[in-house]
Amino acid sequence: MAKKIPVGILGATGSVGQRFIQLLENHPFFEVTELAASDQSAGKPYAEAVAGRWKLSAGIPDYAKNLVVEPCRPLLGCKVVFSGLDSSVAGEIEYEFADAGYIVISNSKNHRMDGYVPLLSAEVNPEHLEMLKFQKTKGKIVTNSNCTIMGVTIALKALERFGVQQVMLFSMQALSGAGYPGVPSMDIVDNVIPFINGEEHKAETEPLKMLGTLKNGKVDFENIKINAQCSRVAVSDGHTVCLSIKFKKKPGLEELKMALSSFRGEPQRLKLPLAPDPLIIVREEEDRPQPRLDRNEGKGMAVVVGRIRPCAIFDYKMAVLSHNTIRGAAGAAILNAELMFKKGYFG
Ligand code: NAP
Repeated sequence: MAKKIPVGILGATGSVGQRFIQLLENHPFFEVTELAASDQSAGKPYAEAVAGRWKLSAGIPDYAKNLVVEPCRPLLGCKVVFSGLDSSVAGEIEYEFADAGYIVISNSKNHRMDGYVPLLSAEVNPEHLEMLKFQKTKGKIVTNSNCTIMGVTIALKALERFGVQQVMLFSMQALSGAGYPGVPSMDIVDNVIPFINGEEHKAETEPLKMLGTLKNGKVDFENIKINAQCSRVAVSDGHTVCLSIKFKKKPGLEELKMALSSFRGEPQRLKLPLAPDPLIIVREEEDRPQPRLDRNEGKGMAVVVGRIRPCAIFDYKMAVLSHNTIRGAAGAAILNAELMFKKGYFG
C-alpha cells in the first residue's frame, strides 16, 4: 500500500479541528502526525487539551489522544496542514505557513477573496486549482467557502444550465457554527437571533467567486444577484437555508429536481473517499429537510434539498440543508485535499 501523506491540523482543539480529528481517522491518503493550537493548549497531550470541550458524540480517536499539541509555528514535520484556526489569527498564521513552504487548506475567511487563492468546493470549481501556480509563496493556500453557502453553491452549480439570475436566501444556522462555547445559552434558548456578524456579506459574495470563470489565473465573478438574511437558531449542527431563485431559462419543476438529484462532480467521478454519491438528495415530503433527521446523509457530506415549489415572486423556492462542520468545514477541506492529492498537487 502507498505511503500516506503526513498532515497537521492547526486549530485542532476547536469545533472544526475536532471534526478534522474525527474524519481523518484511518484516512486512506492522509495520516495526522501533528496538531497545533493556541498557547493555552500547546505542550499538552491532545486529550488533556480538549478535556471538557470535546463535543462530538464519538470519543476522541485513539491515534490523537497522546499527540502533544504544538504552537502554531511553521516548524511542523509535515508539509500539508488543515486549518480550523480562529479568524482573528488565521490570516497571519496561514500566510506564515504558506511562506515557509506548507500547503495550507483553510476553513477561515481571511484569504478567501485573495487574488490567486482558490475558494474551492471540489464539486463546484475544481478547475480553480490552476490559480495555485500564480501564488508567489513557496507553499500554497487553498480555502473553503463559508459554511452557510456551501450547500447552496452546490445546488446553484447543479442548476447552472438554466442561468441563475437572482437568489433570495434566508438562513437558520446551527450553534456549532459559532465555535465553542459560542452563543451563550441565555441568548439562544427559546430564541432566534436575526444577526450573525459578517455572514450576509459572505453569503452574497462567496458564491460569485466559486461559480466564476477562471481567466489568466484570476476569477471573473459570476453575475448573480444574491440577497441574504442570516439568523442563528437553537439547532446543534446543520444549517438550513431557504432560497428563492430566478432563472434566465426557467426549467419545469421535474426538470429542476432532476438537475439537482443527478448532479455529480469531479470527486464522484474520481470516487474520492469523502465524496458522497448521491451528492444532492431531493426529498419530496412536505416537512423535509430537517437538521436532526437529515444532516448526516452521505456521512454529513450530502446536501439535502426539499420543499421545491413555485415561488410567487421568483421562479422556484426550496430549502437546502448541509452539515456545517462536515460539508461546511472539515469534510469539505478534506475533500479538497483528496482532489489535490489525486491531481498531484502534493508532489
Ligand atoms: P473554535 O471552536 O473557536 O476554535 C478555534 C481554534 O483556533 C482553536 O483550536 C483555538 O485553540 C485556535 N486558536 C485561537 N486563538 C489562537 C492563537 N492565537 N494561536 C493559535 N491558535 C489559536 O472555532 P471553529 O468554530 O472551530 O472555527 C474555526 C475556523 O473555521 C473559523 O475561522 C471559522 O470561521 C471557520 N469555520 C467554522 C465553521 C463551523 O461550522 N464551526 C464552518 C466553516 C468555517 P485553543 O483551543 O488552544 O484556544
